Amino acid sequence: MTERATAICRLLDAAYGRPDLGNHADPVDELVYILLSTMTTEANYQRSYAALRAALPRWEDVVTAPVEQVEAAIAVGGLAPTKARLIQALIGRLQRDWGGLDLGFMRVWAVSDLRRYLATLPGIGYKAATCVVGYAFGRDVCPVDTHTYRVAVRLGLVPPGTPELGRPAHVAVELSLPAGARLGFHINAVAHGRARCHVARPDCEGCPVAAHCVAPEHGRYSRRGQGEAE
Ligand code: SF4
Repeated sequence: MTERATAICRLLDAAYGRPDLGNHADPVDELVYILLSTMTTEANYQRSYAALRAALPRWEDVVTAPVEQVEAAIAVGGLAPTKARLIQALIGRLQRDWGGLDLGFMRVWAVSDLRRYLATLPGIGYKAATCVVGYAFGRDVCPVDTHTYRVAVRLGLVPPGTPELGRPAHVAVELSLPAGARLGFHINAVAHGRARCHVARPDCEGCPVAAHCVAPEHGRYSRRGQGEAE
């Protein structure tokens, strides 16, 4: 399995090259960015994050601003009333826990401690915590979002029926991947899922990892829109 997984990771790397998905190196920036990404499109959460930073450039000001101002700034991303309150609660909690918003001291924490703490923050679940551990703290983890899960199953890295959410999903997918390649696999799997490995009618012609695909959908559809192949 390790050799096969290594080959898959290399092929995805060659095809997609770990594109920039707009994530942030600062932990607080990334926490808010990931929180804003809930239940909306990439374009919308990138716009709402940029609008929030433009309206209230300091996180300290976000927490003291009227919630309606935060809500208005992120309105384009949807669920603004809920997200505005969660963002203020998240920043307030960090300030109470650590007396400020510089989380650089956490860089020496173990991955398990980082995930455990971050997942207790308002609006941050296990997957969101894993994103912050990977993107902001530079650790070898694989956030399991819908694209990552679908690609991992279709490539036979984890069996169908593997839990899709939370710690069980992350343990299964991370153990299936070679050490050092986990965050890269996630980034490339998101790119692959968006570009061609769609939920319905994946674009399998020319797929860079087709040789490893075990999905029942593989080979059933044509890019030329001719429907199911014979
Ligand atoms: S062959 Fe098709 S279903 Fe399989 S990984 Fe590639 S795009 Fe996805």
